[in-house]
Amino acid sequence: MISKRQVRLSKCSVSTEEKQAVARVLDNAYLGMGKEVQAFELELKNYLNTESEVICVNTGTAALHLAIECLDLPLGSEVLVPSVTYVASFQAITASGLVPVACDINSETYFIDLQDAGQRLTSKTKAIMPVHYGSFSGSMPAVYEFAKNHGLRVVEDAAQAFGCSRDHKKVGSVGDVICISFDGIKNITCGEGGCVITGDKKLAQRIKDARLLGVEKDTEKRYSGQRSWVFDVQHQGYRYHMSDIMASIGRAQLLKIDSFSDKRKSLVQIYLKELSGLKSLSLLKYDYENIVPHIFVVKITNGSRDKAVDNLSQHGIATGMHYYPNHLLSKFKTSYSLPRAELALEQMLTLPLHVDLSAEDVLYVCETLKAYLD
Ligand SMILES: *Cc1c(COP(=O)(O)O)cnc(C)c1O
Repeated sequence: MISKRQVRLSKCSVSTEEKQAVARVLDNAYLGMGKEVQAFELELKNYLNTESEVICVNTGTAALHLAIECLDLPLGSEVLVPSVTYVASFQAITASGLVPVACDINSETYFIDLQDAGQRLTSKTKAIMPVHYGSFSGSMPAVYEFAKNHGLRVVEDAAQAFGCSRDHKKVGSVGDVICISFDGIKNITCGEGGCVITGDKKLAQRIKDARLLGVEKDTEKRYSGQRSWVFDVQHQGYRYHMSDIMASIGRAQLLKIDSFSDKRKSLVQIYLKELSGLKSLSLLKYDYENIVPHIFVVKITNGSRDKAVDNLSQHGIATGMHYYPNHLLSKFKTSYSLPRAELALEQMLTLPLHVDLSAEDVLYVCETLKAYLD
């Protein structure tokens, strides 16, 4: 059976403004990293209201990779990371010659469980990579306390958290090193893209150089319209910079963040109202006021998640699963089990959420799911 009504899980929201922005760059005939990226970085810094530096790169994964690699931790150092995250978090750590140590999650928030993380500390543990799962970051103060007590650097995987707040400040505006994604379906997009935010000046310079093959001060050259012909390279670098085409899309999107944020929040309010108090479904416990939700995840607690997925699919509703636990993948397999992550794998269900979804669409999803669960 093919349902007439089709509800997408996620989607970018772009229109005339983004098209005009790209046309402007194409007309300029300078497509690489230049004035647009410089302007976007400044606008991000102003939006976040931060003293930290904002460094734009071509994906959120590249942001994580550069952030962790440029800390210059000894090779083989261990990084605590929740198992339930996009595989990007784990790959960024191994790409840097470091060892991801998979930790369990809190079952109410799917955030890294610090008690479990505490049991995995060794003399080689040098950093922790908390993930702002579902755009939630309410547990970050506890992570910083934990990191301080154990002498760890903190690289926040805030890929999903652009536009969120904590203690009246924008997520990313304070903290050690924060990575954000601007991929096609995130809270704002550049097509693909991401950024690293840090107040550590030395680290910021390392990252700026590393995104341009390690060519020293190449960013500064490009922003003043020059090229580097004579230069030095001291460290491993990559072609991870953002292009002016991407930045122009991001700049147009940034102007829409408040309306995007209102829309995402209002759709989630409908989900919360319609889906609370059900017997076989439970909600994650978030302070939704401060969250611009990238995804909306529920737990199906009666063992019928897979059947629910099929049923929704028959009604034209796409769903997702964020995420298959990394400690169960061949590359990152652990000798220990992580019971809460493994239970999450059976229960998690991501429902449609994007800016172009209507309230009626969300009600349709809720009615369909409720009818199934009954
Ligand atoms: C999207 C995402 C990333 C990676 O960002 P890309 O821009 O897609 O490379 C990393 N971690 C999490 C939790 C994400 O949601």
